[in-house]
Amino acid sequence: MSITIEQNKMLIQMIKEFTANELAPLDMDIDSRGDYPDGLFQKVVKTGLLGMTLPREYGGADFDYVAASEALEKMATGNASMAVTLEGHFKTIEQFIKYGNKALNDKYLPSASKRIFAFSMTEPSGGSNPKGIATRAIKQGSNWVITGDKIMITNGGLAEVYCVLSKTEDDQLAIFVVDKDMPGFKFGKREDFIGLKGVPVGEVVLNHVVVPDSHLLGVIGQGLEIGDNAHADARVLMGAVLAGITEHELQTAVSYAKERKAMDTPLYQLQVTQEKIADIAIAKQNIQALYQKGANDKVAGKPYAEVAAMAKSYGSRSAVAAGDKALQILGGYGYSHEYPVEHLIRDARAMELAEGTIEKMNLEITNAEIAK
Ligand SMILES: Cc1cc2nc3c(=O)[nH]c(=O)nc-3n(C[C@H](O)[C@H](O)[C@H](O)COP(=O)(O)OP(=O)(O)OC[C@H]3O[C@@H](n4cnc5c(N)ncnc54)[C@H](O)[C@@H]3O)c2cc1C
Repeated sequence: MSITIEQNKMLIQMIKEFTANELAPLDMDIDSRGDYPDGLFQKVVKTGLLGMTLPREYGGADFDYVAASEALEKMATGNASMAVTLEGHFKTIEQFIKYGNKALNDKYLPSASKRIFAFSMTEPSGGSNPKGIATRAIKQGSNWVITGDKIMITNGGLAEVYCVLSKTEDDQLAIFVVDKDMPGFKFGKREDFIGLKGVPVGEVVLNHVVVPDSHLLGVIGQGLEIGDNAHADARVLMGAVLAGITEHELQTAVSYAKERKAMDTPLYQLQVTQEKIADIAIAKQNIQALYQKGANDKVAGKPYAEVAAMAKSYGSRSAVAAGDKALQILGGYGYSHEYPVEHLIRDARAMELAEGTIEKMNLEITNAEIAK
């Protein structure tokens, strides 16, 4: 049974209310404490948000990417960290749905509405070139023994299930699913990142972790393809998060420009302020158009990797630039921790790096254009 327009509307209404009541009031607190306050993540789980995109057969709500990305945009308008926590989970589940075998999906997906799944590719040696990873998966009978070190993993420490890009003995790339409770698994350092302060981004260390054959996602040699697919899915959702951040910047700038006066004139009546507000509003609309095209093309079964890269490449740079304009409208207060603008710039800046750097995305966009 497919989702109705009415159910989509109810989802968005529920997200708006959850964001207004539970997330937006904590936005500044999450940034300053550098974590989610106790109990907040549990509320997200209790509200059923982890299962938003999970198929019904596994206990999820089965919303598609058009609905899920709109939901993350609305959430990011109140708090971008929680929207990115969900983005990391949704894009990982998506790879199980597309590439997972029945035994693996039957074992793991029923728990995906209660616990977070994460996707781990980056290593201390670098993230832009996945072919250079050192993590090894060695075949032993009907098992694989995995050893390696993954860093900068979104939801690292909070997530319980990890897709791990590894190299086999014959240097083929493959993705295996590991569980935090397996012997040899341990969490390492949490990154001290400058933005998205609620999201734990951390290290996962695997020391001879043994998984059965069924924990292989897709087939041996498909690791890069699955990684690229995960990037494309993540970039649609991050485009949505960036549209939400830009909306937050816009709302902050507009309400300040209405109240603050330059002599007797409200700031919004000054042409220099109007130009900045117009630029922020146009940026938001453009980011939205890009991520929505990515989501619609994905749902329609059309190619969407290029437009997804555009949504995150354009979206991250535009949200940072829009934040800078909003900061200028607020004057000295914009430069202060008292207002959210400075942390919105730091939040948006993460997405010039995570899920493929700007340079990598622009290379992919160029390659797609050259190939046309
Ligand atoms: C908030 C956040 C969340 C993250 N979450 C995850 C996650 O969930 N899972 C995960 O696996 N990783 C994650 N990462 C890591 C992220 O994917 C990497 O930071 C990114 O891939 C870049 O890798 P690097 O940091 O090692 O930089 P490097 O690869 O060392 O690159 C350094 C610089 O060189 C440029 N560069 C590198 N190679 C080339 C080239 N061939 N041509 C042109 N320029 C190049 C890069 O664009 C960059 O500017 C996250 C990062 C952040 C900031």
